[in-house]
Amino acid sequence: MPPELTAALALCRNLPSPPGIALRIIELAQDPEADITTAADIIAIDMALSARMLRIANSPLYASRRRIENLGQALTMLGLNATVSLALGFTVTQGLTDPGEGQDLRERAWRRSILSALAASLLGQARGLRKAEELMLAGLLQDIGVLALAQAEPERYLPLLRQAADNDALVALEREHLACSHADVGAWIAEAWALPRYLVESIARSEQPEATEDTFQACVAVSGAVADIWLSRDADAAREHALQLVNTRLQLDSAQFDQVLARISEALPDIGALFETTLFSPARVQQLIDHAQELATLRNLREMQDAAQARKRADEFEARANRLAEQAHRDALTGVLNRRQLEAVLEQEFLRATRHGWPLSVAFIDLDDFKKINDAHGHLMGDQVLRMFASKLQEQLRNSDTVARFGGEEFIALLPNTTEPVALEVVRRVLANIVNTPMAELEGGPLFVTFSAGVATQGGYERFADVQDLLKAADDVLYRSKNLGRNRVIARSPSSAPA
Ligand code: GH3
Ligand code: MG
Ligand code: MG
Repeated sequence: MPPELTAALALCRNLPSPPGIALRIIELAQDPEADITTAADIIAIDMALSARMLRIANSPLYASRRRIENLGQALTMLGLNATVSLALGFTVTQGLTDPGEGQDLRERAWRRSILSALAASLLGQARGLRKAEELMLAGLLQDIGVLALAQAEPERYLPLLRQAADNDALVALEREHLACSHADVGAWIAEAWALPRYLVESIARSEQPEATEDTFQACVAVSGAVADIWLSRDADAAREHALQLVNTRLQLDSAQFDQVLARISEALPDIGALFETTLFSPARVQQLIDHAQELATLRNLREMQDAAQARKRADEFEARANRLAEQAHRDALTGVLNRRQLEAVLEQEFLRATRHGWPLSVAFIDLDDFKKINDAHGHLMGDQVLRMFASKLQEQLRNSDTVARFGGEEFIALLPNTTEPVALEVVRRVLANIVNTPMAELEGGPLFVTFSAGVATQGGYERFADVQDLLKAADDVLYRSKNLGRNRVIARSPSSAPA
């Protein structure tokens, strides 16, 4: 492409949209029920807007890890509010202000691109291609070079557009006067805007239906000729020409081709409405722009609120899930770990101690004559004593120690990295404190309890095969301390003599 042309095109980023699109975008922005599908339906028939949305979705600003290949992906990624805000910003100024010279010519390009989009996707469907959305987009954008040239070089290009009787004549004039075709220009733009590779290629080849074996590319290349059936002065000749291309390039017969044409015709009334341009007074245009800007601002606010709310909900959900998980680990009456969780923690600590050769002490603790408390003061008082006892026990151990309720009035204290003599000393200190701490206030005075405990240590003078053996050892010593008269703590090791 000639360098002076690329220099002019490089500055040209905002291509115009049909005025009907601008109005429909404003309507969309006002509609509280609007959804992304409605937005996509409107944007998908405007080449300027489609290309921009794709450009933005693929821009580093959105830093998406995967490439956005079609409009649906682009809009889904942007979200409804961002889509509408962007569309408003883009179309309204361009679509509603004074179109200036060549509006009829631009309109022709818009119409051809919509017809081509429909043709490309319906031809692809007839050939069993599963890329309807990409075909639609490629068909839509194949003539984006026409809009770009009309925008960047109006003095040179608008006369060519006006002079050309049909698309072939236009391409011939372009080559003669500009030394390139609108397909070259469109491909250059698509490349410069970092649109997906397949679009760059299908735009580049859109004026050479002979040049490709690829079915997708062939659908796009032929689609322009199909669109010309509606645009050409000699519809019959255009139809003949298109049929011949569809026949040789896509191997579709004339019955299949007629079906494609019939389905394009069905869509035409809707498309026509886009170009019923009502002429607005400058004052009315300014009102519409102001209105659209306000709507865009509101949409942005909504978007921020939505995001904040979503974050808050996620936080709450996580906190609740954490609470529930925590509850599932705890004993309902006393709040210390329950037996199931004790087993999990014990397994972990046992493995760690065995692997590193660290000592792990376990104290099996059982309240003395607890049945008598229940009998004398009732079960509820018994419960209260259990709660108080558990909390005092927890209070007097280190944070790295674990307290769990094994069942009934039996508790386990797990002391990682603690040798047997140290564990013995710790649990004895706890006992000394407990016996002096009232567990409840009764009418006759405070209620005190004692306990008996057995301590066993993994990695002391013996090594247990598993957790169950270690627990059993501690339980055995507990039994001994009960037999010796209760209210005492005994360790398994003979060297830690009973107190
Ligand atoms: P020992 O000194 O031999 O351990 O005598 P003990 O009475 O403490 O032991 P025993 O095993 O005979 O009785 C334990 C009692 O603990 C019996 C049971 O009703 C009571 N108990 C178990 N769980 C609970 C509970 O959740 N709440 C209350 N209040 N009592 C409980
Ligand atoms: Mg018991
Ligand atoms: Mg007991």
